[in-house]
Amino acid sequence: MLPASTMLPESVASLPKAELHLHLEGSIQPGTVCALTARRGVVVSEQEVRRRYAYQNFSEFLEAFKWVTSFLRDPQDYALITRDLAEHLLSQRVIYAEVTISIGVMLLRKQRPERKVYDQAAGLGLHRLIHAGEIGGPEKIREAVELLGAERIGHGIAAINDPALMDLLADRRIPLEICPQSNIRTGALARQLRRAGARIEDHPLAKLFRHGIPIVLSTDDPAMFHTTLLNEYEHAQKLGMTDNELLRLAQMSFDFAFERPHSRTAG
Ligand SMILES: [Zn+2]
Repeated sequence: MLPASTMLPESVASLPKAELHLHLEGSIQPGTVCALTARRGVVVSEQEVRRRYAYQNFSEFLEAFKWVTSFLRDPQDYALITRDLAEHLLSQRVIYAEVTISIGVMLLRKQRPERKVYDQAAGLGLHRLIHAGEIGGPEKIREAVELLGAERIGHGIAAINDPALMDLLADRRIPLEICPQSNIRTGALARQLRRAGARIEDHPLAKLFRHGIPIVLSTDDPAMFHTTLLNEYEHAQKLGMTDNELLRLAQMSFDFAFERPHSRTAG
């Protein structure tokens, strides 16, 4: 399957990719949201979904997240959104993904996730993965690394405000899962930069990467942040990263994956 149309060089666009910071509930495209609401007898237009998917700050985003997940009621709903996400990823040549599912959403809706399943996962060796330094300060990242032994940090953009922490992440080879568009849409980057607003051009992705910190480029909640993994590579390009650096970025997502896909050239 060919990748969606993009400004990226063919060598980058056609490369098999991995996506390591991806929330299932944030990946529900507007058309799929309409299908979900229809199952509950609620007629919602795609335009209405897009309006709800536009936010000025983090709390508005959380409101939209709560609204869309209120329609996830049974296993068939999860099957629908998972299939939709898989097709979307394949269209971008994303051949490996680590997808986060929010058990909190299920508990809130009084659903009963199979705890047995959680125990089984733990028995197989759960990995330690923590969101830190997205909205909070660099001390949250340091705590995640030093107290909790995090293997990867979700976001971690607050590291730009602490040079010693940047050295530590580089020395210990602890990757940051960087989601540029998410950081703009939630206002997280503006907050870290202590400004009223921030644009993609302000993102520290290239700076963190060139400091030697491993980076896994990701989308976070692609449907809710109007982005794709290819868009994020375009953002990296816009930030001045060379084709060679983009290729290294793509490779890093495989290097820091918790499983090793059998083939990096399939697809
Ligand atoms: Zn996230």
